[in-house]
Amino acid sequence: MCFRMEESEATVQEQRAPIKIMIAVSKSTLKGYPHPSISSSQAFDWTLQKLIPQSCREDYQLLLLHIQVPDEDGLDDMDSIYATANDFKDMKQKEKIRGLHLLKEFVNKCNLAQVPCKCWIKEGAVKEEICKEVKRVHPDLLVVGSRGLSSIQRMFIGTVSEHCVKHVDIPVLVIKRRPEDAPDDPSDD
Ligand code: AMP
Repeated sequence: MCFRMEESEATVQEQRAPIKIMIAVSKSTLKGYPHPSISSSQAFDWTLQKLIPQSCREDYQLLLLHIQVPDEDGLDDMDSIYATANDFKDMKQKEKIRGLHLLKEFVNKCNLAQVPCKCWIKEGAVKEEICKEVKRVHPDLLVVGSRGLSSIQRMFIGTVSEHCVKHVDIPVLVIKRRPEDAPDDPSDD
């Protein structure tokens, strides 16, 4: 009898754990922060509209992850003068704040749709950091967008989505950008 009670308690707890969906979101390569990339914005909208039933949104948790590549282009702070270590700290801080503005847009959408969410920023190489975070957090599903590059473009430019599919050991959902929304240069997003 006692054994059965423990078992049913465990089952109830299991049922209560939210389904965790991690979505990797990037900034627009054309407009910069705080604008999201076309592919990650469409991946997010698709997930919210098609994957999470309206009747049980509280059973889900969206985990929004953004990776900042340190000094990606080195242009933002070209005209600044650095004299102390603190100046460099300030630079990092400013960049982080830009990233937070990107995430704020997604969090607002989650709040409006009443889907619980968490978001955070990591710094490093995009593909590797996403895989590391998947290992650390153990979501039930990873969602990434995709620019839908051709095989030759993939060879030269590289793709985040393909890397994730190959390297994480949880289900990965890749949501392709609508071709009609692709910019002239397909590597832009
Ligand atoms: P792909 O076109 O295969 O390179 O994949 C693009 C997708 O990779 C985007 O829609 C995001 O889901 C993810 N991604 C790219 N850059 C980042 C980033 N800096 N932080 C988080 N996710 C990213």
